[in-house]
Amino acid sequence: MAVYKNGVYLLGDLDQEKPPAVRANECITSGPPLYIPGGWRNKPHELTREACENDRAFCMIGARAVEPARHMIFPGQVLAFRGISDNDLAMYWHMLVIPDLATTQQHRLRWVFDLTRQHIPLLMKMKARAMVFLAQNRAAFAARYGPGPIGRAMKNEVQCGFHIVPTVGYLHMHVLFGPLTVFGGSDESRGRWISLEEVMDILMVEETMEKYRYKTGAQTGWPLSLQGPPPPPVPPPVPPAPSASTGTSAPPVCAGPLLRRARTL
Ligand SMILES: [Zn+2]
Repeated sequence: MAVYKNGVYLLGDLDQEKPPAVRANECITSGPPLYIPGGWRNKPHELTREACENDRAFCMIGARAVEPARHMIFPGQVLAFRGISDNDLAMYWHMLVIPDLATTQQHRLRWVFDLTRQHIPLLMKMKARAMVFLAQNRAAFAARYGPGPIGRAMKNEVQCGFHIVPTVGYLHMHVLFGPLTVFGGSDESRGRWISLEEVMDILMVEETMEKYRYKTGAQTGWPLSLQGPPPPPVPPPVPPAPSASTGTSAPPVCAGPLLRRARTL
């Protein structure tokens, strides 16, 4: 029976650790494929059509038409539920946090690149919900995993972030507690990841994530170790007009923004 305290789901004996297979190497190869083959690889700067078609369940959760199969945590403006994949990312706990549709005035945020500076409070609220959950369940985590891991989790091992090209077209923030699985720590996962902190930093500078996407994905190649789309063909140089001899040289080539690497996933 679910126990809630101040709207926070409290872990109980029935909240089992994920099965060993999830934590072992076979988590990479067993189970149904998590990612759309080739979709994100070929077009890392685009939201795939498949993602848009996979969002039905999240929309229903966001509209509160259904509850997720696993624990709903924090009824409120943001909703959280336990990670839903067997190919999981974190060893101890993996949550997904989404804004509900009422909070976003029914305008569904599809992915991280729909975010603008005005969403920073929403992002902070999403993270706060996860941290409150961890704090409220600190004793249960400590009983299960020992005080060390969960103590570190409070400081260093809570990672919030987004898939750059998600498989679901409804904004969802991943919250990973504790060490990562082999799958979660793989180069593939790292390359597809952008942390919450990075998103906040970018929004402070660029105002919208869409600008950043355009700069990094469409113009200069994707920064996060991904194979970006092929560069556009370079037009042939235009010879200067004979009369334009007043010293208008070609503008310096912009090297593009300093490319950032994803932090450890
Ligand atoms: Zn995701």
